[in-house]
Amino acid sequence: MNVNEIIAAARDGLLLEPEAKSLLSALGITTTACYPAAEADDAVRIAEQIGYPVVLKAKSPLLLHKSDNGGVELDLRSPGAVTQAFGRIKAASSAIDASAGVTVQKMAAKGIEVIVGVTTDAHFGKVMMFGLGGVLTELYNDVSFRLLPIGEPDAREMMASLKAYRFLAGFRGGPPADIAALVDIMLKVSRAIVEYPAIAELELNPIIVYPRGATVVDARGRLDVRPFN
Ligand code: ADP
Ligand code: MG
Repeated sequence: MNVNEIIAAARDGLLLEPEAKSLLSALGITTTACYPAAEADDAVRIAEQIGYPVVLKAKSPLLLHKSDNGGVELDLRSPGAVTQAFGRIKAASSAIDASAGVTVQKMAAKGIEVIVGVTTDAHFGKVMMFGLGGVLTELYNDVSFRLLPIGEPDAREMMASLKAYRFLAGFRGGPPADIAALVDIMLKVSRAIVEYPAIAELELNPIIVYPRGATVVDARGRLDVRPFN
């Protein structure tokens, strides 16, 4: 599906993880695609197709913070592990939403987790946020913001202005993260926000960045459903 089709299909204005990732993928951004599994057997069949290790997640508009509600099962390495995880997610999510679904995706390798978010400010309009994942970011409020659209120098400044920038730039002999891959994602998101004004919110949380490349492992969005936008 192209971006307009994805937007048109989101009747309630919410882009849950699978739809948000489809949108990002249509923009040329690398994600771990989600595949829906109705039964544990489907989840195992998908895992065999995409290859282990996999991640299972709940999908529901009532479960926006999936891991707080038993809705994320990471690093599953066998049919047995997938079957058990499917049961746990079903049990946890059906208590909150009887029609919650389950999706399967590839487990991405460890890297540095960062967040790119877009929100609509009542006065200023569309704003992009950048930060590192994890509790330190929240504790020190170590995030940066820019009005959209942004250009490459803005994207680089948004990263370089963080106190935690050293984590990205190569810390204690570690290899530097692929800053150019993050710039590419930020500019693609910025351009999409201009081109598709219906996107009111978009959160890539987290993006895992490596010495080479970056991949979005969780995303969600919200559309402005006012008729004349
Ligand atoms: P939540 O709805 O709680 O934000 P996420 O989908 O972000 O749920 O999953 C929680 C955490 O699990 C992420 O922050 C990330 O650390 C890890 N994670 C999620 N999906 C993957 C994946 N496909 N590969 C590797 N790690 C993942
Ligand atoms: Mg998340």
